[in-house]
Amino acid sequence: MKSPILAGLMMTVFLFLPALLLAPATAAVYPGKTDEPPAPQETAATRADAEVTVRVRDGEQVVVTTLADYLPGVVGGEMPAAFEPAALSAQAVAERTYIYYYLRSGPKAAHPDADVCTDPGCCSAWLSPEEARQRWGDHYEAYSDRISRAVADTDGQIILYDGAPILAVFHSSSAGATAASGQVWAADLPYLRSVSSPETGDTVPNYYSVTTLAPADFRAIFLARYPQADLSGETAEWIGGVAYDETGRVERLTVGGVTLSGVEMRALFSLRSACFTVTAEGESVTFRVTGYGHGVGMSQYGANELARQGKSWQEILQWYYTGVTVGPAA
Ligand SMILES: [Zn+2]
Repeated sequence: MKSPILAGLMMTVFLFLPALLLAPATAAVYPGKTDEPPAPQETAATRADAEVTVRVRDGEQVVVTTLADYLPGVVGGEMPAAFEPAALSAQAVAERTYIYYYLRSGPKAAHPDADVCTDPGCCSAWLSPEEARQRWGDHYEAYSDRISRAVADTDGQIILYDGAPILAVFHSSSAGATAASGQVWAADLPYLRSVSSPETGDTVPNYYSVTTLAPADFRAIFLARYPQADLSGETAEWIGGVAYDETGRVERLTVGGVTLSGVEMRALFSLRSACFTVTAEGESVTFRVTGYGHGVGMSQYGANELARQGKSWQEILQWYYTGVTVGPAA
């Protein structure tokens, strides 16, 4: 029977053997220097996440943790764990970059005492190990391993534009093309442009969704927000002037004489995206919606599709974030 000490020694030998073998060759690369050669960059990067402190607001409390401990729960909370490794890695880098962005710019007004929070409507969802065990069941070990690897394999890597971490927003799925940030929010950021996205109804669950309201409910919801609207006539007359942008999303429409954007309409009726058609008839108002999310930045299902096609996580990020580079956080 092997003693634990012997086994431990053997492991030590195996771990250090490659380093010993490499030592003479490495020394030869730096002729004339008697000092140890400088540590390769990878060595610095592999420690990066563990060295970065993050303050996370989780409900009433603020937890002080490290990126290394925090990121796996974020990736698990925001992307299906069964996704391709390159997609999970792209997600890990997007999440890490998002955190760096706020570490540099200072926290949002919503939580001045924390860099990020666990509210998915504000920052990113976070899946605790207990929740992950419940959600993943028998897959828990395998999925945890996939996600840990996605975080570790990209340790310290972030997305940069002009040398600074980008606002790495993402969404679930788009209908053929993502949206530019200026189409959804006030700021038109140069790296958040509309790009094509390969996911379809064949690969995305609930890609097509339908929201139906009784005319009375539609009217009550709309008038609560836009009391000046005139919805006194026939239902079929309520909605008109629907204009689409080049990505297939509703740019604007007119309801009861009030013109609003597709984004505002989406928020008002909790539609899965601003890519919709709407029909108003006698008995119902029906939205037919494609995709899920605001549509800006990386599409997660698109990322998974690109990964299936053989793209690396770096290629996926550079597909969705225009003109960026990927590298270690300075
Ligand atoms: Zn937040």
